[in-house]
Amino acid sequence: MNVEGPTRFGEEGLSLEFGVRILEMTFLLEIAYTSVVFVALYLLADFVSGLFHWAEDTLGADDTPIWGPLFAAPNSRHHSDPSAMLKIHWLRNNSLLVGACVGLAMVFWVFGALTWHVVVFAFFTGTAQQVHRFSHAPSARLPRFVRLLQRMHVLQDARHHWGHHRAPHLTRYCVVTPWLNPVLDRIKFWRVMDRLFVPIFGAPRRSDLCEKPWYRAQGFWA
Ligand SMILES: [Zn+2]
Ligand SMILES: [Zn+2]
Repeated sequence: MNVEGPTRFGEEGLSLEFGVRILEMTFLLEIAYTSVVFVALYLLADFVSGLFHWAEDTLGADDTPIWGPLFAAPNSRHHSDPSAMLKIHWLRNNSLLVGACVGLAMVFWVFGALTWHVVVFAFFTGTAQQVHRFSHAPSARLPRFVRLLQRMHVLQDARHHWGHHRAPHLTRYCVVTPWLNPVLDRIKFWRVMDRLFVPIFGAPRRSDLCEKPWYRAQGFWA
């Protein structure tokens, strides 16, 4: 009796099934890895929005060359009249940040290093100001998908962002998600940033720091 044939086919069947399982697992791991990286890039964009917002609120003054008219003065105006940003056309409101992010992606492209990671990061960072704008707009005027994303806590909503607009405007600097702000505020991350950079760059608008021995109103260049 010849048993080699069926046995061999059985082994081949098993190894084929094993191979398919490995492929399935690799595919699932790939999806899980991509999802984690995607969320990490989203959070990184939110973190960068917070860093830049902290710098806009803290460093320099309205009359500081270049920095003042571009960032410090518009932010001072935004604190005193938050809804005024809605009177500016959304294209004008977003152009600087979108331009910077497109520029960043192009630099990576020129050096042959443009990957989906860079594109996703540039997209989330480039849309941060629009997300901020959404959080100041009346809910009824928002597109339905934005309201849904806000309700799902994927995007920051007005209620969360309003925490930053309460004087003295020292918390909730991140403007994209509601996830990072509670963590960064709890570990006093922004106060560490004050301690590290205000003695170097100065913070003429931060009267709350006047009593600190390390406070400097003017930066090292003044
Ligand atoms: Zn602010
Ligand atoms: Zn705001």
